Amino acid sequence: MSSVNDIRKTFLDYFARNGHEVVASSALVPHNDPTLMFTNAGMVQFKNVFTGLEKRTYSRAVTAQKCVRAGGKHNDLDNVGYTARHHTFFEMLGNFSFGDYFKELAIELAWNLITREFAIPADRLLVTVYHTDDDAFDLWKRIAGLPDERIIRIPTHDNFWAMGDTGPCGPCSEIFYDHGEGIPGGPPGSPDEDGDRFIEIWNLVFMQYEQLTQDERVDLPRPSIDTGMGLERIAAVLQGVHDNYDIDLFRHLISASEDLTGTKAEGQHQASHRVIADHLRASSFLIADGVLPSNEGRGYVLRRIMRRAMRHAELLGVKDPLMHRLVPALVQEMGQAYPELHRAQPLVTETLLLEETRFRRTLDRGLALLNEASSNLGEGDALDGETAFKLYDTYGFPLDLTQDALRQRGVSVDVEGFNAAMERQRAEARASWHGSGEKATESVWFALREKHGATEFLGYEAEKAEGLVL
Ligand code: ATP
Ligand code: MG
Ligand code: MG
Ligand code: MG
Repeated sequence: MSSVNDIRKTFLDYFARNGHEVVASSALVPHNDPTLMFTNAGMVQFKNVFTGLEKRTYSRAVTAQKCVRAGGKHNDLDNVGYTARHHTFFEMLGNFSFGDYFKELAIELAWNLITREFAIPADRLLVTVYHTDDDAFDLWKRIAGLPDERIIRIPTHDNFWAMGDTGPCGPCSEIFYDHGEGIPGGPPGSPDEDGDRFIEIWNLVFMQYEQLTQDERVDLPRPSIDTGMGLERIAAVLQGVHDNYDIDLFRHLISASEDLTGTKAEGQHQASHRVIADHLRASSFLIADGVLPSNEGRGYVLRRIMRRAMRHAELLGVKDPLMHRLVPALVQEMGQAYPELHRAQPLVTETLLLEETRFRRTLDRGLALLNEASSNLGEGDALDGETAFKLYDTYGFPLDLTQDALRQRGVSVDVEGFNAAMERQRAEARASWHGSGEKATESVWFALREKHGATEFLGYEAEKAEGLVL
C-alpha cells in the first residue's frame, strides 16, 4: 500500500520525469501577496509568474504545497470532522506550465498519472468541464476515452477560475472519483453533489484569457496551466478507503490521540478525534511558519483553530493540556517532508501548551454557561447573541467555537445579535477611553486598529474581494 509519503514522491517524480522543475512548498504566510491571509493553493507562489511580472529559469514546475483554508474566501473550517474530504491544513500537489504546454498535454499527463502510475480504474472516474469548453470535452473523449455521460458540462463558476476581477482566467476541469454506491451523494452538477460519494480529486485550470476590464476579455498569447490535487484525497483512493481520516497519516495521528486520551475514535468521539488531528496539523504548520495566536488577523484564525481543538479534547474527557503531547506523532509523520516542523518543534510545543493552559482556565466555566443558556434550546433554535458575546468576551470562546458546540443539537447562534453586542461594547470602550484617558484596554486598541486600518485587517477584507484561489 502506498503511504502518503510515497504518493507525494510519486507525483513529484512523475512530473520531474516529464520536464518539470521540482519547487519547494512556499510558506503558509504568502510572501508575495499581503492581501491573502494564507496560502490556499499551489499557484499562489507563482502568481507573478503567471501574470508575467516575474521570470523563472523554468517553464514547467511541480510542487507539493502546504495549504490552509480556514479564513477568507475559501474557508473549510466548518466542514472539518463532518465531511470525509475537508481539512483546514492539507497538501496540494500541482503541476504548472508557464506559457509552455496547454490543455492537451495537461489532460494527457493527468490521465496517465492517475490511470497508469496510480492504476485507478478508469470506470471509477468522471470529469467536469466548463459548459462552453468544447476543446476540453473533446480532449477528454479522445485522450481518456471517456463516454459523453462521464464528461459533465458545468455552467457555474465552479468550473471557471479567475485570479481576481482582472488578470488571467479560464475554464477548469475537475476530476472526480466515485467511491461507490452506498455512500450518499450524487455526481457533480446534480442536486446532491455535496455528498461524499463522488469526490473531487484533481482540478485542472486552463488559463487562456486575460480579463482586462469588467467587460473586456482577450486571449492570452501564451496560455498556462495550473493544477491542484489534494494529497489526502488521492491517498484515500489509493489506500482503498473512502474517508481522508482513514489514510495512514491520519490513522497514526488519531491513534496517538486515542492512546493519550484513553478513548476510541468511534461514535460520538469520532468527530472530536478528527478535529483534533486536523487542527494539530494546521496549528503546528502555522506556528512553524511564524504565525502566533493573537486576537486579530492570522493570529486569530490560528487561535480559533487551536481553541476549537481544545474544546474537542475537553469532550473526550481530558483534564490536562493535550495538544502539545501530540506534536511528536506529527513530526514523526511529516517531519521528513517538512523539516521546518523539526526546527520549530520546541516553539510549537510551547505555544500549544501555553494556549491550552490559558484557555482551560475559562473553558469549563464557559461551557457551564453555554450549557445552562442553551439547555432548553432544540433543533432550529438559536442561542441569543448576548450570551454568545459573553462567551467570547469573558471566556475566550471564538464565535465559531460556540457554533460548533451547538451544531450537533441543530442549534444555531444569533450572529446579528452577537455582532450588535460586540459593536456596543466597542462603542462603550471607545467612549470611556476618550473620556477618562485610562490605559487603553485591548478592545479599545482593536477598535482603533480597525478604524485607522491595519495591514492584517485590510488583508482579510481584500482577500475576499480578490478571490485569489484555485
Ligand atoms: P471541494 O469542491 O471538494 O471543496 P475545491 O473545488 O474547493 O474542492 P480546489 O480549489 O479545486 O478545491 O483545490 C484543488 C484540490 O485541492 C481539490 O481538487 C481537492 O483535491 C483539494 N482540496 C481542496 N480543498 C480541500 C480541503 N479543504 N481539504 C483537503 N483537500 C482539499
Ligand atoms: Mg472547496
Ligand atoms: Mg470543487
Ligand atoms: Mg476544484
